[in-house]
Amino acid sequence: MLPDVESFNVIAEIPGSERPEEVVVMGGHYDSWDVGEGVHDDGAACIAAWQALRLIDRLGLQPRRTLRVVLWTNEENGLRGGRAYHEALSDEQVAAHVAAIEMDGGCERPVGFGYGLSGVDPRADEPDPVYEAGLAKLLQIGKLLEAIDAGDIQRGGGGADIGPLMRSGVPGLGLRTVGEHYFDWHHTDADTLDKVDPQAFRKAIALLGVMGYVLADMPERLVPAN
Ligand SMILES: [Zn+2]
Repeated sequence: MLPDVESFNVIAEIPGSERPEEVVVMGGHYDSWDVGEGVHDDGAACIAAWQALRLIDRLGLQPRRTLRVVLWTNEENGLRGGRAYHEALSDEQVAAHVAAIEMDGGCERPVGFGYGLSGVDPRADEPDPVYEAGLAKLLQIGKLLEAIDAGDIQRGGGGADIGPLMRSGVPGLGLRTVGEHYFDWHHTDADTLDKVDPQAFRKAIALLGVMGYVLADMPERLVPAN
């Protein structure tokens, strides 16, 4: 109920080695409801994305395209961080986003990703060839995560912060978890750090790191440019 104040998205990136203008963006939102600690919604996601980028950097890896982490501000009260990120880009820069990945379903044990593409019903009787070609690539990437039982790629997915990008045609991925307790915790006093299993958190870092890196490094875009 207080007046608006200025806040900021927080951005970190590894510039691409061959096509730095092309971007894979991933992250979550660092605001939360003013109860609990906002760990599952959505602080753990911010730190997991940050750690994924840091690990890739420490391993000395540099993908072909830019891999960018964004901690979006103000998701809970108007999605202004996600909108501002989108508005700051030219049409050309939006089109150069090859994928957007969001984790905003809590930090329970992750199982994989859901994949969405604007204007496509992923379960339509008449399959969309562009969507299906992207899905086939994601299923291959999912195999890399089978060893930690987290490579399940489902039809349909995205996230609130990446919504503006997705509506402009950027393919979107939402990290999926077992989803057993998220809606017991989020937006409540119970959303605190003790609810995070460290092993689930580490797996989330692995999922974001593997998916982000491969999408940024593979020779072709996930889906062709518009
Ligand atoms: Zn959230």
